[in-house]
Amino acid sequence: MSERIHNFSAGPAVLPLAVLEEAQRDLVMLPGVGMSILEISHRSKTFDEIIGRAESNLRELLNLPDNYHVLFLQGGASLQFSMIPMNFLPKDASADYILTGSWGKKALKEAKKAGATNVAATMADGNFTRVPDQDELKLDPEAAYVHFTSNETIEGVEWKQEPEVGDVPLVCDASSDILSRPLPIEKYALIYAGAQKNMGPSGVTLVIVRDDLLARIPEGLHTMLDYRTHVEAKSLYNTPNTFGIYIIMLVTKWLQEKGGLEAMYAENEAKAKILYDAIDATPFYRGHADADSRSLMNVTFRLPSEELEKKFAVEATAAGLDGLKGHRSVGGIRASIYNAFPRAGVEALVSFMKEFERKNG
Ligand code: PMP
Repeated sequence: MSERIHNFSAGPAVLPLAVLEEAQRDLVMLPGVGMSILEISHRSKTFDEIIGRAESNLRELLNLPDNYHVLFLQGGASLQFSMIPMNFLPKDASADYILTGSWGKKALKEAKKAGATNVAATMADGNFTRVPDQDELKLDPEAAYVHFTSNETIEGVEWKQEPEVGDVPLVCDASSDILSRPLPIEKYALIYAGAQKNMGPSGVTLVIVRDDLLARIPEGLHTMLDYRTHVEAKSLYNTPNTFGIYIIMLVTKWLQEKGGLEAMYAENEAKAKILYDAIDATPFYRGHADADSRSLMNVTFRLPSEELEKKFAVEATAAGLDGLKGHRSVGGIRASIYNAFPRAGVEALVSFMKEFERKNG
């Protein structure tokens, strides 16, 4: 293989070529440092600058006020499923969970181990094809927090705007759509996201947490599982994923150079439209999500049979379109088209889809 192919993988996923090239150039020796990013101490001045830049880039892109902390943790988004209830679900309270797909269910499973929960809405009956309307939410006004998943990566279901939760802290798993569009940050108490889709390599989890929430944390938590540890140590309590944070710094710089999240959002909408239009143009392809809940990041669709879906994925891979097989739990086809995924790749997929239908339709 001598050329880069189109990588539709759900994560780890495609990264901007310019970022990979810069990382490659500097891998053996960071300019002016004489050592690789892989070799330097997390306590060095150089790394201090790198993590500082990663944070300030994120602050600028997301327009984060000073009362939000930015943390770079490990354990994936999956560890946040546990840390959130351990820190913010007191024994005498209950937390609301809104379920729009597989990841929300996993988050709820962990919360149940920590305390009482209420399912404020679940779209499971309809096979997770949409987000609930505001009037379908059975919210508990006394809830410790409300948890939702802004984009369900497996089903390809995305919220177009946040649920209204009043004064209850809103907690969001934004693993697969963070940085894909601007966010009204003031609506959120905590946002978390694994880096491996829109920000960098696997092994770093971004957590953005509002300062007033920290006062709710009970005493006695294990040090590494207590958010205050990481706030106080500025993500350097233990050895962080230095390389991952360096790549996040480069990816966020790339985003700034592209014009920030408004510009990215416009591009993402345009890319997704090309693909959804192709799906809607023929009954041969059937989108999984309802039109108003369709994800801009993970486009999920079915073909007339599982056999054809298998054939589609195999032939697409042979044509240089990799990673299109849907998640094993739902089947079908999933095209993940994150920020770094080029428009030309979407156009190549649409051409392939037309040709595949012509031969097999
Ligand atoms: N939440 C969402 C929405 C995801 O897409 C994923 C991973 N695909 C996770 C959580 C779990 O992330 P991790 O593998 O980083 O634990």
